[in-house]
Amino acid sequence: MDAIVTIGAESVVCPSCSGKTIGVESITLKSLVVPRSLERVRDTTYRYCSTKSCAIVYFAADDPTQSFLCDDLKIRVADKETSESFPICYCFDWTTDDVRRELRDTSETTIPGRIERLIRLGFCRCETMNPKGRCCLGDVTRTVKRLKSEPAE
Ligand SMILES: [Zn+2]
Repeated sequence: MDAIVTIGAESVVCPSCSGKTIGVESITLKSLVVPRSLERVRDTTYRYCSTKSCAIVYFAADDPTQSFLCDDLKIRVADKETSESFPICYCFDWTTDDVRRELRDTSETTIPGRIERLIRLGFCRCETMNPKGRCCLGDVTRTVKRLKSEPAE
């Protein structure tokens, strides 16, 4: 059996786009899924698909036909956003617009440093706030780097 595609009977590639996925615990879905879709959430491991063009956000690892789409979530999923304005840090509510504004005003951004400081103080709640169920800092760093390389207006 190909270990990259499956772990036991559990699927780890997205059933819709065949992209790589990451594991997310049900606590994340219980926090972020809209009430009308909540009764479909089970106590199982879910997988998160980050492919922008793919409609699936989560699917159950043990039953890939059970999936949750953007409309099933209370928040906007940064990875699925087609606009240039989207959340980058869910715990502390920073967006790409906040970073752009700082870069425009001061050519620098304090946001990654501020996020790091609050993480050190133990204020982050990534498991229940971030759709990936994990720390945003890697994504924030990548996005800030990209925004810094954007031509100035
Ligand atoms: Zn997908």
